Amino acid sequence: MAGTFDDFGFNRQVLNAIADAGYSEPTPIQQKAIPPVLNGQDVMGIAQTGTGKTAAYVLPLIMKLKYAQGEHARALIIAPTRELAMQIQENIALYAKHTDLRTVVLYGGLGPKTQIENINKGVDIIVATPGRFMDIYLAGHIVTKPLQVLVLDEADKMLDMGFMPQLNRILEVVPRKRQNLLFSATMSEKVHQLSANFLEFPIVVEVTPQATPAQTVKQSLYYVPNIKSKINLLKYLLDAEEQGIKKLIVFCITRASAENVYKFLVRRYDDKQVKVLHANKGQNTRINSINAFKADDIKILVATDVVARGIDVSNVSHVINFEVPVVIEDYVHRIGRTGRAFQLGEAITFCNPAEEYRIHKIEKLIRNPIPVYPIPEGVFIEETPYEERQEQAKEIDLQKRKENPDFKGAFHEKKASNTKSAAKGNKAGAPPKNNKYRKSGKPALKKHR
Ligand code: AMP
Repeated sequence: MAGTFDDFGFNRQVLNAIADAGYSEPTPIQQKAIPPVLNGQDVMGIAQTGTGKTAAYVLPLIMKLKYAQGEHARALIIAPTRELAMQIQENIALYAKHTDLRTVVLYGGLGPKTQIENINKGVDIIVATPGRFMDIYLAGHIVTKPLQVLVLDEADKMLDMGFMPQLNRILEVVPRKRQNLLFSATMSEKVHQLSANFLEFPIVVEVTPQATPAQTVKQSLYYVPNIKSKINLLKYLLDAEEQGIKKLIVFCITRASAENVYKFLVRRYDDKQVKVLHANKGQNTRINSINAFKADDIKILVATDVVARGIDVSNVSHVINFEVPVVIEDYVHRIGRTGRAFQLGEAITFCNPAEEYRIHKIEKLIRNPIPVYPIPEGVFIEETPYEERQEQAKEIDLQKRKENPDFKGAFHEKKASNTKSAAKGNKAGAPPKNNKYRKSGKPALKKHR
């Protein structure tokens, strides 16, 4: 299995786009799906949104199509909703930015005139909802003969929405000889049926089921406003007898924060009990640390997601997410390290205001809310330093823009005023006041909970 994006044999255009997007390594579904998609095989991918599944088929597609050619689409991607179709188009724009490939998106809810005009200008990739695709096809504006690749994304949702007849009609009008890719969050009976009609000797790739960890892992969430307070809470939990921490992994997002947490822990426990793992550590150091942790010679491992992936250490009593992961799926990976050999593992997540956005996404992914606990009375809550507050405000601003691709009315004004106030560094640019967070100092006031 490939370990890095370089191993796939992508061309420079694709690799540059991946680097621009800031992805350091492929997600599990990408590791599994990209090689067979590049090979031209039919692929059935079982993966939910949030796993990186879009890039898993779009990146190889861009590699195959390479550059603008002819007038008619060579790839067709069918998606259940206008929102998903638009999101896929945005992904394509991102990953194809170093090529001249042309993408047109077709969905209902507005007149087809502009969409038809866009097709007539020449197109390489069409992204469409099933109904609108058939309407425009039947009106004679789409030539399907040059189609080489057909993708059905979120197939289970399309079937739930009753699109089976439209999908069957699409299958009738596309060339017989083509590559087929089917992505679905679940493998239901209906999806199975569709795949039998649609795929030829498919390679089935699956990422570990996403929605199951809650069964063996006790999850908890603390709203903690800043790094210093997170350190205070970490210290408190480590000291708390009832917490019973025997073997712990502390997850951080960056090397810098992993080092920071490590330094704090070493001061308390010395380096015989604690090790830190991140990409700056040499291979041997990493292997030695992991082995020592496996053998129970050390109690605490501080790690970033990048190095923690693929490390086979699972039977830990506790996982502490010092920071909420950026790749949402990593949450499931992280907490999956616990709750096996031990009766019940515990996964504790610390969340600051800028991380709430990702918590909402995680809760959607695992289809469960993470139970929130009040910060224990003995934990000192520090004031958030100015710079950290600004960092959080910037991130929240970015999240808002990401969530509002339509840039409609009120948002324009809001965005303008946010940017202005953030630039001035005044209070309006700071994260919203939120009563989930206990005010600085101690003890905790009950009414805040
Ligand atoms: P998807 O499952 O396709 O909806 O993707 C979920 C999110 O993961 C998107 O915001 C992508 O930009 C992001 N993503 C996709 N691949 C990677 C990767 N290899 N590393 C980090 N983020 C990624």
